[in-house]
Amino acid sequence: MGRMKILVANLGSTSLKYRLFDFSGGQERLLTRGGMERLTDHAPAIESCLAELRQGGWITRESDLAAVGFKTIMARGVNGCVRLDESVVRAMEDYASIAPAHNPPYIAGIRLFAKFMPGVPLVALFETAFYQWAPEAAMRYAVPEAWCQAGIRRWGFHGASHKFIAERSAEMLCRQDVAHRARQLYVDGGKSPVREPALRVVSCHLGGSSSVTGIRNGVAVGNSMGLTPQSGLPQNNRVGDLDVFALPFLMRSTGLTLEEAERLLCKESGLKALSGGYNDFRDIVARAEQGDGPAKLALDVYAHHIRHWIGSYFLQLNGLDALVFTAGIGENQAGVRTEICRDLDQLGLKLDPKLNAETKAREAVISAPESAVKIIVIPTNEELVVAREVRRFLQNPSTPSLNP
Ligand code: ADP
Repeated sequence: MGRMKILVANLGSTSLKYRLFDFSGGQERLLTRGGMERLTDHAPAIESCLAELRQGGWITRESDLAAVGFKTIMARGVNGCVRLDESVVRAMEDYASIAPAHNPPYIAGIRLFAKFMPGVPLVALFETAFYQWAPEAAMRYAVPEAWCQAGIRRWGFHGASHKFIAERSAEMLCRQDVAHRARQLYVDGGKSPVREPALRVVSCHLGGSSSVTGIRNGVAVGNSMGLTPQSGLPQNNRVGDLDVFALPFLMRSTGLTLEEAERLLCKESGLKALSGGYNDFRDIVARAEQGDGPAKLALDVYAHHIRHWIGSYFLQLNGLDALVFTAGIGENQAGVRTEICRDLDQLGLKLDPKLNAETKAREAVISAPESAVKIIVIPTNEELVVAREVRRFLQNPSTPSLNP
């Protein structure tokens, strides 16, 4: 295969991050990365990203890019790795109201890339892709069949990150068979052979948005996020799990409108609501250290819910081989890891306090030697997972996904 440069664009509501990979000659290299934050308009950011790639000599013309890959969130009736044509973008628009922090910036960004680089294929890997083989019982809500047919079920998110953890944790635990199965998942649906015993991993992606996934032999058994990325753990400013009857109760008793409720649940809830207005985890930790009650409560609620989900997968997986922490908070915040692992020695989990305190933004085993379960920090690499799938899609577009 000839030249194979793939740009992966990560679009947030106010940010654009990118990584450029080169898969030429069967190798796999990160050529460059960059990004911009605090954006009010994605168009100039995308233009300057492309200008940076040209000025750096990474590309000379748009046809130097084999594709642009996107870590898209969710779309009605679409899953896996697909070419971003107009019908897929419309299917993302259909779900914009249930992924309001995520789908609109992606839709806007994809349309801009299509305008700026009309000749370059745009390819999406949906965050829901990793859960296509999770057991039905883990993904169903107990709702009328017609609702389920309409898509009201658990989907699970952060698929690229948790898939990277599935692959990398297996390598670190010397289970190349499981790492291979995880890498081939979107090709054969998890059918590549593995030996006994099963490898049982719980992956905690803790960042601006957080979720916990149980993984058996490289394949997800479920995720703490359900229908939408607002669910599961308390998020930075999104609510996390909430009894659905709270909403009609408040609307009837206080006159809250649906639009205002949506805004409050998506922008003014989560850790921000608990901590008294703080969105960034570093601010919450700093305030808790100064003795601030709401900030301390926010940290306690966060750790409590993470433990809830770890416990759930500990049971579903019949025990654990590794507990993995990743993303901005999981990779950097030793104090959160301490809280999550507190008093679990009877279950075979014991942190090494020194290794834990020393580990920031790098790969390391942080459990004590006598801990039966390895506790590991692994910096995630979602863009690499997207780039690999995009490359695979370009090589064989006829088997992009194995939608159930
Ligand atoms: P996103 O979901 O937006 O990609 P990240 O994975 O970058 O989020 O995580 C963002 C969160 O991680 C923020 O709340 C931030 O406080 C925390 N974080 C990021 N980097 C660090 C760091 N170096 N030290 C401590 N906390 C960090």
